[in-house]
Amino acid sequence: MTSDAPLYRNQVLLLSQSFFIKDNRAELLLHAHKYDFDIRFFDEVSRFVAAVEAERGNSLFVIDLDALHNMQSDMQDSRKTLMLGELLQRLPDGRDYVYLQSARQGSRFLLQQRLVDSHCLAYAEKPIPNEVLVERLFNLFVQSKRGDLVRVVCPGQAPGLDSAALAARRIELVPHAEAQTLHLRVKELQPDLVLLTDIEFVRNEAVVRILKKNMDADPVREILLLPGRLDPVLAGRALAGGADAILLPGEPALLLAQLAGRADKIRVNKDLIGKDRATGLLNKVGLQKKAQELVREAARDGCPLAFGVLDIDRFKTINDTWGHHFGDIVIKRLSLALAPHLGERDLLSRFGGEEFVVVFWDCGLEEGWRRLDGMRQAFGAIVFAAAPGVVRRFSFSGGIAAYSECRSGNELFLQADAMLYEAKLAGRNRICPAPLA
Ligand code: GH3
Ligand code: MG
Ligand code: MG
Repeated sequence: MTSDAPLYRNQVLLLSQSFFIKDNRAELLLHAHKYDFDIRFFDEVSRFVAAVEAERGNSLFVIDLDALHNMQSDMQDSRKTLMLGELLQRLPDGRDYVYLQSARQGSRFLLQQRLVDSHCLAYAEKPIPNEVLVERLFNLFVQSKRGDLVRVVCPGQAPGLDSAALAARRIELVPHAEAQTLHLRVKELQPDLVLLTDIEFVRNEAVVRILKKNMDADPVREILLLPGRLDPVLAGRALAGGADAILLPGEPALLLAQLAGRADKIRVNKDLIGKDRATGLLNKVGLQKKAQELVREAARDGCPLAFGVLDIDRFKTINDTWGHHFGDIVIKRLSLALAPHLGERDLLSRFGGEEFVVVFWDCGLEEGWRRLDGMRQAFGAIVFAAAPGVVRRFSFSGGIAAYSECRSGNELFLQADAMLYEAKLAGRNRICPAPLA
């Protein structure tokens, strides 16, 4: 590959036995790359420790406790528990580790307790299939991300919450005057959380049911009740109506901690549902939600939108000639080549296999064509080392459509897709419809 940009967003440093690495390396890497991370393998504690110390990014450090067997040779005392202590002591401070333990280790409570108290980010029990391990590690990356803004709508008098402290936790508080129109506001804003004080809840209990029973409601959204004091009867009514949780009343700091916890959970769920694992881009579900919002905002602001669909040319041949893994790398490179062409409010999605969707905010048909064509040229300029001594360039075709020529997100997609089909028919490596002049 000629570009110097790292191909994978995240990295795992794995300390394990040499035979585990030998048997699993290729398969682990294949899975990991589909989840946008790379793995560096270590079978010696000292090298692992040096690499952990040198690491500045947000890598995960994974220790297979069977690696203790590797250490045995250079230790005098061969008692297991001592060895574990020794290993834990040698790990650099200020980092958290993921431990892979045997079921036997897990069954000993004291050992288990010692592990979770030893800078433990998480642990997993072996045996664990490679693909499961990779998926679990991916989930940890998702959890560690700073993540998207979580929006909270709160009707009535917002309780003593400091919006700066909330913003630091990536939470935006939107006050709303009255509970009677809350469902309309929720429809418009699509918040992730609705925070109801007991005063607002008592004023209009039906609002919880109205929000919850809407089939269109975002399944990840939570409705939280914040009582002024604990009232089991009121709490029971809120839960029966569909509220997701009752917050503990108390200091603003306690409220902030509870909200931040819910927001983290929501962020992880949204990521797992709405993002493509291999590229970190929006997937089809995520795009549909965001595009709907954007079309709504464009209609409100009288602002044009351009909607592009693009598809790699003759991708099946790429797979068939150089293998599926190489095909995956081409997809990955394309996603990395597209991202720098986006404005802050634009959307980019891996819609399916080798098909991507872009939405340009405040952009007409012609400008959309130019921008998508710029992306086409950028991708076409990438030189791929397909095999030793074999370099290749690839192309994609695209179709573009614009709002307000099309009136809905669905119509936009159909029109852009029809234009993509035209581009394929016309010989590929082009964007349709090309501007007249
Ligand atoms: P065209 O120029 O008409 O688009 O031809 P094409 O070969 O690209 O089109 P086609 O839709 O027939 O082939 C797409 C192929 O992409 C089929 C599928 O096996 C492959 N594919 C889908 N998702 C992935 C993926 O995640 N990785 C890899 N390597 N291949 C994928
Ligand atoms: Mg296709
Ligand atoms: Mg294709």
